[in-house]
Amino acid sequence: MRTALCISGSDPTGGAGLQLDLQVCRAFGVHGMGVPTALTIQDTHRVHRVLPSFPSVVLDQIRVLLADIRPDAIKIGMLATDDVARSVLLALEAIDPEEVPIVLDPVLAASDGTPLLEPRAWAALRSLCGRARLVTPNRIEAERLTGCDTTSDRGAEEAARRLLGDLGARAVLVKGGHRAGSPRDLLVAAGENGPATRWLEGERIAGDPVHGTGCALASAVAAGLARGGTLEEAVSHAHGFVREAIAGAESVGAGARILKF
Ligand code: PLP
Repeated sequence: MRTALCISGSDPTGGAGLQLDLQVCRAFGVHGMGVPTALTIQDTHRVHRVLPSFPSVVLDQIRVLLADIRPDAIKIGMLATDDVARSVLLALEAIDPEEVPIVLDPVLAASDGTPLLEPRAWAALRSLCGRARLVTPNRIEAERLTGCDTTSDRGAEEAARRLLGDLGARAVLVKGGHRAGSPRDLLVAAGENGPATRWLEGERIAGDPVHGTGCALASAVAAGLARGGTLEEAVSHAHGFVREAIAGAESVGAGARILKF
């Protein structure tokens, strides 16, 4: 059985965060393991409150788990606070990121604007980028992490190159869905002959907002890597998986729809 460790916030609706990550792992035939970085109080309308996990508990949960099980991939999502982010960084010193690929979704805020990471945690987040096989910022997150204006495609490419060059990520997927226009995603991967750039075309699917798309994309890539796929394969497959899940999204509450897969 292939395994993936998901380190993310708990979303009681099941539409995002750890609960969604574990459902995605199951859909990929991968055994999902989970360490919650925070509890949230939320419904399909909005995040009402965030309660970060105890940093020492996050540290011990990951340490004890990694001493027993070597996951085939790790997904990191919401980290909530600097102390939690540093605990994750410390706990992951036990693994070689060349052997266990890490997919980092640098979650800064929920779609409703609620901050999901305190600003002073950005240094720890940047350090985690340096250990990641793939970082999956949306354009806003890429802009905040690098200072590049990502309004244009050229700006997004520059931000991705900085995430590779300055922060040390092995690859970056800049998601286009949060900005107006065509929701193209940009994949830039470090290679022997310099960074290789590929645009993944997408069409905007009409309908009410859908919750958890970023979480699902990152966990689908992690599950694909856990199954032994290359980064390109895992990203392409995850991209198609999320597109289908958005196309089939359904309402379970009165707010945002949830992904169907
Ligand atoms: N709750 C948790 C625990 C999350 O990790 C996220 C996003 O990463 C959200 C809520 C917000 O999801 P969305 O922005 O899709 O509404």
